[in-house]
Amino acid sequence: MKMTNMSMTSWGNYPVINSQSLKFSTLTQLKDTISTHSDLIPRGNGRSYGDSALSKNVVQVNPHDLFLDFDVDNGLLHVQAGVLLADIIKVFVPRGWFLNVTPGTKLVTVGGAIASDVHGKNHHIVGCFSECVEFFNLMLPSGDTVKCSSVENTELFRATCGGMGLTGIILDAKISLKSIQSKYINQTTIKTLNLKDTFSAFEEHKNAPYSVAWIDCLASAKNLGRCLLTIGEFCTDGQLDYQPKAKINVPFNLPSFLLNQLSVKIFNWCYYRKVSQRISQQKVGIDTFFFPLDAIGNWNRIYGKKGFTQYQIILPKETSEAGLTEILQTIADSGKGPFLAVLKLFGKANDNYLSFPIEGYSLALDFKIEDSLFKLLDVLDDIVLEYGGRVYLAKDVRVSQAVFEQSYPQLSTFKALRSRYKMQQKFNSLQSKRIGL
Ligand SMILES: Cc1cc2nc3c(=O)[nH]c(=O)nc-3n(C[C@H](O)[C@H](O)[C@H](O)COP(=O)(O)OP(=O)(O)OC[C@H]3O[C@@H](n4cnc5c(N)ncnc54)[C@H](O)[C@@H]3O)c2cc1C
Repeated sequence: MKMTNMSMTSWGNYPVINSQSLKFSTLTQLKDTISTHSDLIPRGNGRSYGDSALSKNVVQVNPHDLFLDFDVDNGLLHVQAGVLLADIIKVFVPRGWFLNVTPGTKLVTVGGAIASDVHGKNHHIVGCFSECVEFFNLMLPSGDTVKCSSVENTELFRATCGGMGLTGIILDAKISLKSIQSKYINQTTIKTLNLKDTFSAFEEHKNAPYSVAWIDCLASAKNLGRCLLTIGEFCTDGQLDYQPKAKINVPFNLPSFLLNQLSVKIFNWCYYRKVSQRISQQKVGIDTFFFPLDAIGNWNRIYGKKGFTQYQIILPKETSEAGLTEILQTIADSGKGPFLAVLKLFGKANDNYLSFPIEGYSLALDFKIEDSLFKLLDVLDDIVLEYGGRVYLAKDVRVSQAVFEQSYPQLSTFKALRSRYKMQQKFNSLQSKRIGL
């Protein structure tokens, strides 16, 4: 076991803490580490935004990145938990396979994708990442390893998918891939005029395999909620010679004053006008469609040294329009424009205890960390609760225990399981302590 004291943070670059980084080579070493430490948290590639992968002791799973087996007849891939989705895409797209569910970055590990039960642009059709997990092996606080699936050790499966690393360490997983005939996607962009128009466009295209909208968060009054809605489906042209797109890099933290109300306004103004007609069509590659932000390495540095946070919430379908109107209006009135605002349509919730999705609409907003931001987010939390919604833990760094407890109804089942397996004695993160898990 290699132990190193180091300063550690996640994608939002906030907070930065001193932790002990623990690297294991064998399962016996991992078992010993669990038995001799407390306040452990597993970590994948640190692409969660907040403090869910931060603790006094951090177990690094990402060096464990072997492909173990592939069943070509059924598209079933068995990998170690540290394998990046980027590696799966690189190897399997040329063979005609893609991920069933992928978040907006491919730089996450399979373990991290399970622990956050991540969603993609197709949640309304296929659900969360756990829907494509055949099974995983989990090391428990006792050091025992158990195989978990939707039919075997079901409670552990339900608690671990979306359980933010608080049930143990996912060692490996078998996931199903989706057959594709092209590395290209037919993309259609629809330019809407206001929130009502945005919801109508989403509903009109609710059967599109993929959909996501960029919202002009600084638009107000009659333009409030206008967006560019992008929908897409894989082409069938047989072109599979995929190469990952080269990326440019932000070499250091930019001065945070560069991102101010004016620059955010200019960006939003230009972005909305990049499309001139109501509907436009393009054929684009996998990286452009699914992972546009990955094209710029370390883009999180544009927010400066103090970092940033993403506030992602979801509201039930029936309250989405009223709730999002109030949220967008509150943000517009606050003068704290988020740099990026993304809206997605979600399908039905699954049975996992802490998975984020419910059927409705989710809004994700990137804000730089600055004085009084958290006060604004507290106000938004109240609106979210009033409309029956919740905050996504994979992005969160500040939600209160009270708000969290009111919005995750299966919390008591999760906590009871944590007690039964003595998980609190071993696995905790800054986040789990803050929200009373
Ligand atoms: C640009 C960008 C876009 C994103 N888009 C989306 C999106 O569209 N949809 C979405 O759902 N998410 C999205 N995310 C969030 C991201 O997908 C999740 O935070 C994901 O969990 C990160 O995986 P990771 O491997 O980096 O895990 P980490 O950030 O290292 O850890 C995340 C959580 O997983 C736990 N964990 C990690 N590995 C293991 C393991 N082996 N065993 C047990 N627990 C483990 C950690 O303890 C922690 O609680 C995005 C993030 C970025 C930076």
